[in-house]
Amino acid sequence: MSVPKFKNINIQAYKPGKSEIKKDKNYIKLSANESSLGVSPGVRKIFKNKNLVINRYPDSKSETLRRAISKEAKCDFNKIICGAGSDEIIQMICQLYLNNDDEVILPEYSFLMYRIYSKIVGAKVLFSKEVNFKISIENILKKVSKKTKIVFIANPNNPTGTYLNKTELIYLRKKLNKKILLVIDDAYHEYNLKKDYVSGLELFKRFKNVFILRTFSKLYGLASLRIGWGYGDKKIINALYKIKPPFNVNYFAELCASKAITEKIFVKKSVRHNLIWGNKIKKLFENYRISSNEITSNFLLLNFKNCKISSKIFMDMLLKNKIIVRSMKEYKIKNCLRLSIGNSFENKYLLKVVKKIFKNV
Ligand SMILES: *Cc1c(COP(=O)(O)O)cnc(C)c1O
Repeated sequence: MSVPKFKNINIQAYKPGKSEIKKDKNYIKLSANESSLGVSPGVRKIFKNKNLVINRYPDSKSETLRRAISKEAKCDFNKIICGAGSDEIIQMICQLYLNNDDEVILPEYSFLMYRIYSKIVGAKVLFSKEVNFKISIENILKKVSKKTKIVFIANPNNPTGTYLNKTELIYLRKKLNKKILLVIDDAYHEYNLKKDYVSGLELFKRFKNVFILRTFSKLYGLASLRIGWGYGDKKIINALYKIKPPFNVNYFAELCASKAITEKIFVKKSVRHNLIWGNKIKKLFENYRISSNEITSNFLLLNFKNCKISSKIFMDMLLKNKIIVRSMKEYKIKNCLRLSIGNSFENKYLLKVVKKIFKNV
């Protein structure tokens, strides 16, 4: 029987950080860079409110949230668009800019959604080599052609945990043809306390050819509500509003995000927790010749190159001890795995398990 024929899209579907064992509450999930401290007190309060109105459609332009963002992140209300996760903003940017045969440049180890959405709309994805797991500006520039439309970078980068500093970012924008859109994904910016780091938003908020991505999924702990935002020139934003699904952001997500962004104490506490535990965990791994990135995000890319066991063996041992981390197979990073920084209880348990594992190998 013949059936309607659909497009052949040559991509691998995104595989989220392992949680297949979700139903067993005893597992510790350190595979998806989620907030280690849960959500802020104000958001927890909203959850307890039983009078939330959900029979009405949400505000299609998320004005309450955009006003809160504009105030807290000191940026222009009219240049913000909200999405069901920054994920959806990536999708919309690809829809807006890319035609068949247009080219997109991505660092070789980068967030998988850039390549997935680029390919879905028919663009060709070119990967620029990194140097020591760090984005190389020169290698990005080498890939540029007349067909290049977008360069995506996450800064700090997931899954490598490295970052481009302020000078490097300025240099990249300067060297890149003005007609190429530079997308900077600030997903982990709050965690990066390095002196030479500056977020994409801070640096480029007045640029017409830089587009910024932000999310509430990581530090703010709202991953399940699917809420993020994009920031760019008004012309880009207006065009995005034309293709945006009308009710992409739900009322509850908007409400929680509007509260979360005002809770500075929770942000500070989370960042501090992350830095202290991140360094502690990093040091322990160094005892076993497992190297990792500096603390710029809420995860460590653990490199087993000089270790006496492989990342695969180690990962299996962790799993036997009910700890789930992220394999780097889809990212094609050899002998590495990515570990999210957990809460104090999880981290203490992790340290205990790691010591036990290495006692026995
Ligand atoms: C986790 C992550 C996001 C967040 O995606 P959401 O769709 O907002 O949950 C975006 N970019 C990068 C690089 C990430 O690691």
